[in-house]
Amino acid sequence: MGISNHIPFSSPFIIGREIDYIKLAIQNQHLSGNGNFTNKCHDFFSNKYGFKSCLLTSSCTDALEMTALLSKIGPETEVIIPSFTFVSTANAFMLRGARIKFVDSCTNSPNIDLDLVEDVITESTKVLVLVHYAGIACDMSKVEALKRKHNLLVIEDAAHAIDSYYNSQPLGSFGDLATFSFHETKNVICGEGGLLVINNPQLSDRAEILWEKGTNRAAFARNEVNKYSWIDLGSSFLPSELSAAFLFAQLENINLIQSRRIEIWRKYFDRLSPLAQSGYFKIPFLPRYSTVNGHIFYIVCNGEAEREQLRNYLQSHGICAVFHYIPLHSSPFFCSKHDGRELPNSDRFSRCLLRLPLFYEMHNNQIDKVCDRIYQFFH
Ligand SMILES: *Cc1c(COP(=O)(O)O)cnc(C)c1O
Repeated sequence: MGISNHIPFSSPFIIGREIDYIKLAIQNQHLSGNGNFTNKCHDFFSNKYGFKSCLLTSSCTDALEMTALLSKIGPETEVIIPSFTFVSTANAFMLRGARIKFVDSCTNSPNIDLDLVEDVITESTKVLVLVHYAGIACDMSKVEALKRKHNLLVIEDAAHAIDSYYNSQPLGSFGDLATFSFHETKNVICGEGGLLVINNPQLSDRAEILWEKGTNRAAFARNEVNKYSWIDLGSSFLPSELSAAFLFAQLENINLIQSRRIEIWRKYFDRLSPLAQSGYFKIPFLPRYSTVNGHIFYIVCNGEAEREQLRNYLQSHGICAVFHYIPLHSSPFFCSKHDGRELPNSDRFSRCLLRLPLFYEMHNNQIDKVCDRIYQFFH
């Protein structure tokens, strides 16, 4: 099988002035963090999405660790997290010593089943973490009701959800805090990178201090104080200007990226709908309140054996389709800490979900080839 015939699952790309901007950062003699390009990225996010305050980070994992620090976790603090998510969502809070309560996915969506959240809320519950899986929004009206009733801090892990909307309000603008990822597998990339969004103004001063190693160096850089010192916990969460320069070039082209990815997503949806209607598998359920942002196109097979046969069949024809998360509640690290509740939907999405190739530079004939092979497999 020649390289040219191979269809990868995802593929990093350059779309605009990435290299020019990296050269400019070098010419400007500012390669460390919190420079011009970092500020340009912050302004971009505030202007386009109305995020109150933004801090670029070296990864979404780092941004999540900042949310855990900002949540002031104590040894008894309980945090509610979907089981069907990436390890970083949970690690951030485990690192601070929180007790994690994992909650199941919905029946028709990998998103957290918000109707199950109240069952695990106790006096010690402080934080609810959401993941908008595949960029499809959680039901934010239910989230708001839970937040109000139980006085929760809400954190959106919006790693999949850039430029996606709940009733025309951008995801990442609902939670007290939200995080995004610019890892090379996401929609908008810079290799490794992330963003912390601070929507709750009470948390923004402290966020900036944690970001700069627990010092007030950012205030110093703005000439607000005449020396900087150690005033809180912190770490080095900020990315270098080289990453920010690359990212800003991508952000300048976000509309192009999004429209092409959404087009690919829609082509999969339209071409595979007949097979879904015949019951061979399920395609994503789209609630009326959510947009599509073309991050992941997945199908849900009727069983794990069939999912694996299909995955291997596609692989043998040069198509890389991949499964996704292994449930965290039953993972080797966590299973002895779990309270024993069954989380059947999380287990089912782990066994049966298959993600199809989707990347900015994907050609229409590659989409056709993937769909043709899926038809051949089922007929
Ligand atoms: C990708 C991802 C992360 C981690 O992002 P990094 O930038 O690689 O640290 C966290 N949560 C979810 C849901 C993700 O998909």
